[in-house]
Amino acid sequence: MITTMNTTDENSRRGNGQELRFVVDFMAGRLATWLRVLGFDAVYLGRPADPEIMRIALTEDRLVLTRNRQLAGTERPRVVVLESETVAEQLAELNARFRLVHEMHPFTRCAECNAELVHAARSRARDRVPPYIFETHAEFGYCPDCDKFYWRGSHWTAMRRNITLLERRT
Ligand SMILES: [Zn+2]
Repeated sequence: MITTMNTTDENSRRGNGQELRFVVDFMAGRLATWLRVLGFDAVYLGRPADPEIMRIALTEDRLVLTRNRQLAGTERPRVVVLESETVAEQLAELNARFRLVHEMHPFTRCAECNAELVHAARSRARDRVPPYIFETHAEFGYCPDCDKFYWRGSHWTAMRRNITLLERRT
């Protein structure tokens, strides 16, 4: 179940070629991380009741994701009040509404800072990842902001599981 405060049709909105972007409030931090893993642009505000959330949503054209019903009284920008407490259920809520599984680009964004990852030559990863990881992975992503390498390890496996669960419910 998802509650939004106006009736804008998602399909017509998205038909304009607009990217689905989010600003996630304090209470849904794990959701922000998972949205990034799926490749969505998700800004996370780490302080409770941050007044910045509405400014960011308006100026950057982002959907607000919150568990705070009080925010839902705001007509603009659009506010999505999440019903569920668990991240898996929250993703399912969003998927039901916004068809995330058709829009996602997994492994393209930094889970820590939201920056877009760049492809890293394998040789660059050699001294930056554990030897076992280097030997067993052919591809690496790199976050220029965090100076961090990514590979499709256990996080990736967990993500694939969640995506499969989402797809079954679509
Ligand atoms: Zn980063």
